[in-house]
Amino acid sequence: MAPPLLIDTHCHLDFPDFEAERDDIVARAAEMGVHKLVTICTRVRRFDTILAVAEGYDNVFCSVGTHPNNADEELDVTTDDLVRLSAHPKVIAIGEAGLDYFYDTQKPEDQKTGLLRHIGAARETGLPLVIHSRSADEDMAAILRSETGKGAFPFILHCFSSGPDLARVGVELGGYISFSGILTFPKSEELRAIALTVPRDRLLVETDAPYLAPKPFRGKRNEPAYVAHTAHVLGETLGVSFEEIAAVTTDNAFRIFSKMPRS
Ligand SMILES: [Zn+2]
Ligand SMILES: [Zn+2]
Repeated sequence: MAPPLLIDTHCHLDFPDFEAERDDIVARAAEMGVHKLVTICTRVRRFDTILAVAEGYDNVFCSVGTHPNNADEELDVTTDDLVRLSAHPKVIAIGEAGLDYFYDTQKPEDQKTGLLRHIGAARETGLPLVIHSRSADEDMAAILRSETGKGAFPFILHCFSSGPDLARVGVELGGYISFSGILTFPKSEELRAIALTVPRDRLLVETDAPYLAPKPFRGKRNEPAYVAHTAHVLGETLGVSFEEIAAVTTDNAFRIFSKMPRS
């Protein structure tokens, strides 16, 4: 029997970790039912490389944006640039952009400047903004509140590892919450408790590969096929079958990534 269909909503297939075996990795994902992959842009300057990866496979799509840890390198990237680049049929999201106060390398002002430009692009295009938020719960909640007040835009809090307040605000403002392999770690009880509070129709799963491999691969290189393990734990947490959580998260992914074709 074929495994239930899943979508890895966030991976980094352009990273050198995958260079030599990208074909195998996409094939292994398909064997596990992971039939669509979204490879996420972290530098607009590398957009051509990411787009080439997406164009290389029928079932791989991509985003365009600047990761907050690269914010100061791309302060020249405008909302218009993002809107223009996102017109390509393979580009189905804006980001990842956001706030990362865990690593002390980028000024918060630069990260905010970038984030606001990405929000502008998401609002203008209707494509979902993939938000990276780490150790920045209060600022992120405040920005999401004030910016959605100026005009709604679709968004995903990716690799969710923040507290319950940001999850609540995100859901309240129409956002989706995406869980990575962190959900499977034994110490992630708080995160699993948060997952229980998220409405079913806002849940997503992702790998963030090559980072954050789920149990039982923790500490090893992650790859899209492993999203099945995170989905399994999410189902267990919610008390639903693997088949059901796969169907729910896949359906949610197609809804939020509305530009991604179902076939
Ligand atoms: Zn991220
Ligand atoms: Zn990422």
